[in-house]
Formats: sequence, C-alpha cells, structure tokens
Amino acid sequence: SASSAGVVSREEVGRATWTFLHTLAAQYPEHPSRQQQRDAKNLVDILTRVYPCGECARHFKELVRQSPPAVGSRRDFSLWMCEAHNTVNRRLGKPTFNCALVESRWAGLECEDEDGQGHNACSLE
Ligand code: FAD
Repeated sequence: SASSAGVVSREEVGRATWTFLHTLAAQYPEHPSRQQQRDAKNLVDILTRVYPCGECARHFKELVRQSPPAVGSRRDFSLWMCEAHNTVNRRLGKPTFNCALVESRWAGLECEDEDGQGHNACSLE
C-alpha cells in the first residue's frame, strides 16, 4: 500500500523485523553454545546500528543498553524479545502483549520437510 514504488513504510519494516526476530528466538537452541550466545548478542547489537530507521535504531540501542539480551536459553531469549517488543509497543502507544503466550504466537518456522536423513530441514539443532 506504499504510495511511492519500492518505498517501504516504518510499519512494514517493523512487522517484518519482529516476525524475523520472534521466529529466530523461537528456534534458538534450548541449550545454546557459547558461540550461539555470542551470535544472538551480536545480532541484536548490530541491529542497534543498522536497523533501517535511524530514530528506531537509537531508541533500540538505549533499550538494549538498559536491558541486555538474555541469551541463556530459548525461553530466556524469547521472553527477552517479547519484553523488548513491549517496550517499543508502550513507547508507540500500542497495546502490550502477554509474554506468557509468546511461545504460542511465535512457534518457529513452518516446516514439514525432512533433509533426507530424517531430520526436520528447518531446525538448527
Ligand atoms: P508489530 O508491533 O510490528 O507486531 C507484529 C505482531 O507481533 C503483532 O501483530 C502481534 O501479533 C505480535 N506482537 C505484538 N507485541 C508483541 C510482543 N511484545 N511479543 C511478541 N509478539 C508481539 N516504529 C516507530 O514508529 N518508532 C520506533 O522507534 C520503532 N522502533 C522499532 C524498533 C525495532 C527494533 C523494531 C523491530 C521496530 C520498531 N518500530 C518502530 C516498528 C514498530 O515496532 C511496529 O513494527 C510497527 O509500528 C507496526 O506495528 P504493528 O501494529 O503492525 O505490529
């Protein structure tokens, strides 16, 4: 619904990014390695610098400074993401989401495929 061809609204990039981030958190390992924990922290940190809306990125950087990502487990990371999203929701005057329900709202990538060795082709584990 953008009026100018190719231009993406703040809302669109926001929805796409939250879909990406909550899906990523839903597939984050239950027992992440040191490297996986570093990767999750680095991803969030990089977003505070490259998110394609300067004002949003600056607010997000402050949010991450005050509440660094919890990357010790899938549950921790999913809840942290939910709380971070709620902080943004509050700032924008949007309703907050009940984080007790986050694992049913965002349950990972839809996938029925197998990789030929009987493993789910979408899982990272
Ligand atoms: P969204 O907020 O995009 O949410 C998408 C869906 O996620 C919702 O429909 C709901 O089903 C679900 N959801 C809602 N809350 C939660 C939650 N807490 N946990 C899990 N799921 C939830 N926009 C600005 O105008 N200014 C900003 O400063 C700004 N900063 C942003 C920073 C980041 C890091 C990101 C990713 C986005 C930011 N946005 C900002 C965009 C904004 O958050 C919304 O994405 C956008 O306004 C569209 O909102 P929406 O109502 O479609 O739902």
